[in-house]
Amino acid sequence: MNQVIKTESSAFAQGVAPEGEPIMSVRGLVKSYHKNRIEVPVLRGVDFDIEVGSMTSLVGRSGSGKSTLMHLMATLDHPDQGEVSFNGARIDNASARQRDYYRNHQIGMIFQFYHLLPELTALENVMVPTMIARRLFSFLGVRKTAQERAEQLLEMVGLTHRRHHRPSEMSGGEMQRAAIARALMNNPTLLLADEPTGNLDSSTGHGILELLQKLNEDNRLTIVMITHDDAIARQADRAVRLENGLVVEQDDALRVVH
Ligand code: ADP
Ligand code: MG
Repeated sequence: MNQVIKTESSAFAQGVAPEGEPIMSVRGLVKSYHKNRIEVPVLRGVDFDIEVGSMTSLVGRSGSGKSTLMHLMATLDHPDQGEVSFNGARIDNASARQRDYYRNHQIGMIFQFYHLLPELTALENVMVPTMIARRLFSFLGVRKTAQERAEQLLEMVGLTHRRHHRPSEMSGGEMQRAAIARALMNNPTLLLADEPTGNLDSSTGHGILELLQKLNEDNRLTIVMITHDDAIARQADRAVRLENGLVVEQDDALRVVH
């Protein structure tokens, strides 16, 4: 099982860890917030691994700490205790610069409310990560290639006809497709999705879910999908359930057989 999952020619997910090895390990994560000097514990010692090429749902009630956990996995926040490792290296205590690197190049994210920039078209939104990852001068040098890649990604998510539209001219499902294309722009190894269907009607949400499954199956993109909905969680290979600040269930048998 020492096979590296992606070849040079792949446009996606050039995983460094061999298939079956964890791409991310979460160990003993503890996180509390403070409200009026009162400590509110959210995560009380969370452990789990994310395997390369897997699709995992992170499921739990509203307020159970799913977004908090995702922020720690994405190095957007620091744990009070515990460790997050990515491809075998600790990232929770990385420098601000290294954390920027992980978020720009390794860990893509999508959110319930898309977080697109309202003044930019779908195509421009998809190109934003490349602009952020490079200085202006160097961006101008790759602009054409970046635009070609953005157009390919928009085609892949079924949004070519909306590429020159702004978010206000798109439906929720279309905005989420644009956000997925944007998250893939810099070829991440891991995609974190926080309630990606949470703001969509069930048939539109189903389309987004199918797109994520296709990315996982066809491109071997490792995906962690947060949801409060068990039916959606069941679409993944495996569910990690958060309750009272702990992982209470890790089910490998949730997969619906196609
Ligand atoms: P979920 O995503 O599962 O709905 P969250 O991680 O957003 O849960 O929140 C978990 C708990 O932490 C909630 O009780 C929430 O009110 C609290 N919380 C989240 N973010 C903050 C914050 N920045 N400051 C204070 N409390 C917070
Ligand atoms: Mg949340």
